[in-house]
Amino acid sequence: MQERKDLSTICVHTGETKDAHGCPHTPLYNTTTFVFDSTADILDIVEGRKSGALYTRYGLNPTIFSLEQKLAALEGAEASLAFASGMAAEAAVFFTHGRKGIVCLGDVYGGTQELIGQQLPLLGIKTSFLLKSELSQLESKLKEGFGLVFFETPTNPAMELFDIRKISELAHRYGAIVVVDNTFATPVNQQPLSLGADIVLHSATKYLGGHSDITAGAIMGPKKLVDPVWPWRKNLGQTPSAETASLLSRSLRTLVVRVEKQNESAQEVAKAMSRHPKIMRVLYPGLETSPEYALAREQMTGFGGMMTLELNATRSETSGFVDRLQLFQLAPSLGGPESLVNQPVLLTHHGLGPEEHKKRGLTDSMVRVSIGLESAKDLIADLEQALK
Ligand code: PLP
Repeated sequence: MQERKDLSTICVHTGETKDAHGCPHTPLYNTTTFVFDSTADILDIVEGRKSGALYTRYGLNPTIFSLEQKLAALEGAEASLAFASGMAAEAAVFFTHGRKGIVCLGDVYGGTQELIGQQLPLLGIKTSFLLKSELSQLESKLKEGFGLVFFETPTNPAMELFDIRKISELAHRYGAIVVVDNTFATPVNQQPLSLGADIVLHSATKYLGGHSDITAGAIMGPKKLVDPVWPWRKNLGQTPSAETASLLSRSLRTLVVRVEKQNESAQEVAKAMSRHPKIMRVLYPGLETSPEYALAREQMTGFGGMMTLELNATRSETSGFVDRLQLFQLAPSLGGPESLVNQPVLLTHHGLGPEEHKKRGLTDSMVRVSIGLESAKDLIADLEQALK
């Protein structure tokens, strides 16, 4: 068997096909359909005797094939499907593999919370949420027959970690599958499939896209779990456009250098902020003082560009800090070149309401930070001037 290449090499080379003119990467096949010389030729594709291009919504477009080979290789997976958004990827996976019931662990992105908590039950899919403090109840959920366990790690905005290996072992004992949203960590910092997870999922809108200019999603896993998702993507119309696929491949070529720089800057910012008298806590798994540090060292190879600062301040003083920042911009997203902040109780987690905030330990003075590609020195100076 061929040895797996390093991620930086995969980013540049995997999936790329040269065209007749010597373009070094796969060109953008900007077409909705492909034409054939004969009925026999088109039937070869339609009836599955040959694989190849046919229709872009089906994902049967060389630009999308090329992207999916790179995505699969990045997570060490046999197969991958690209999607028009992270939510599209989630919905397709849940429709395909979640019909026996979904247990969702910890804090998840608000859209995910709504899809699992409010919309899937309308279709008769049973769903359940367990916070990290309730994890001991997972086994009884699995005994009840729930067939899919979903979680993010690190979580948002509490930056809690879930033990992928332990949860996967437990789920597999009861025949359930584990789907990990690896958006925050990226394949550069965490490889969930190698730790026992069954499917990895990404909002490629974030680090994989990396430039705050495309909305996309992806799943990676073994063919036996990824192939059944394909007809759902096709018939729910969740395939990315060829332009998006091409832009995402472009972005992935620089994934490792971007994420490594973000890891490095985040570590510096986290250290500087943990010494600042106006900061009560820095939630970042890469700090030795973090309760998640031991697990982070075990299952992550880098600690990522996301952190949460908890200020010694009221809700409105915290908003004042956010508003005084000059380099950091106020926005709900993450993973792009520009550093972003948001006050979760007022933005990304506003919909949960005060009772849920309390239950999840989300406080008024928390600020979620996405470290971009600016210099760490300038970012620290910006945070310091806003804290004055
Ligand atoms: N997963 C995580 C961790 C997210 O933060 C988001 C969006 O913010 C999503 C999934 C949904 O992704 P998208 O906005 O690409 O649909």
